[in-house]
Amino acid sequence: MNKIVIIDESLCIGCAKCVELCPKKILYIDKATQKCKVTDETKCDKLKGCERICLVQAIKIV
Ligand code: SF4
Ligand code: SF4
Repeated sequence: MNKIVIIDESLCIGCAKCVELCPKKILYIDKATQKCKVTDETKCDKLKGCERICLVQAIKIV
């Protein structure tokens, strides 16, 4: 399966803005790393809300 939600953990600052915004609730902050991760990306609406809200461009929808 092709990736849909691409997260660059080296850029992510763990602010959780995308987590709060995501209407599908598929994003979360990994407690160990404090970085954003995705659960079931097949549920993604691909409307790129997370991509727009991320201040450091750490998340891309493809
Ligand atoms: S594009 Fe929308 S549904 Fe997909 S991860 Fe981002 S906010 Fe969530
Ligand atoms: S909005 Fe960007 S920096 Fe903040 S948790 Fe999401 S991916 Fe990481």
